Amino acid sequence: MKLVFATNNLHKLEEVQRLLPAEIELLTLKDIGCFEDIEETATTLEGNAKIKTDHVKQKYGYDCFGDDTGLEVEALNGAPGVYSARYAGEEATFSDNVEKMLFELKDEDNRNARFRTIVSLFFKGEQYFFEGVCEGRIEEQSSGNKGFGYDPIFKPKGFDQTFAQMDMDTKGKISHRGLAIAKLINFFNILD
Ligand code: IMP
Repeated sequence: MKLVFATNNLHKLEEVQRLLPAEIELLTLKDIGCFEDIEETATTLEGNAKIKTDHVKQKYGYDCFGDDTGLEVEALNGAPGVYSARYAGEEATFSDNVEKMLFELKDEDNRNARFRTIVSLFFKGEQYFFEGVCEGRIEEQSSGNKGFGYDPIFKPKGFDQTFAQMDMDTKGKISHRGLAIAKLINFFNILD
């Protein structure tokens, strides 16, 4: 089965590609000739994930899935959440966002945080959503150079490494995105 993954994020693509069984052949946005930016204008993760799959479905006619992820920090009342990519401003880099987070939490004892991913799937004319949550804490400093985004400062509960110190297979088993993708895989298994 061919399925489009509506992302331009190569890190996500690699993570997800490793998780999917061989029967699901991933097509990228480039593979289907989609080179335009898909603007994430919604105020929820569900909304943004659906914008990505709606775009592919309406303009290119493919079955597809897409994800949107937010980092929800307890001491910041759930921020940056859906705005995680733009936490330090519209043009913010991953390291700008990490620096801002470390600064905002510098005097904070409550470092609890969670990553939440919503996967939107458009398949055979129906819309589905799958959620994955990974609880953890924001570290006091960056560690590790794997992964992307907030990985160097996020340590998942029960582990003594940040996501950026873990190999991709370990992150894939426990991460927000890994858990949401496991539900997507389970959905296709049930259909078999
Ligand atoms: P997106 O809109 O789903 O691409 O995610 C928003 C932002 O969340 C990204 O720009 C990253 O900074 C961050 N993010 C998403 N997934 C991860 C992850 O697995 N690890 C670390 N940061 C992530």
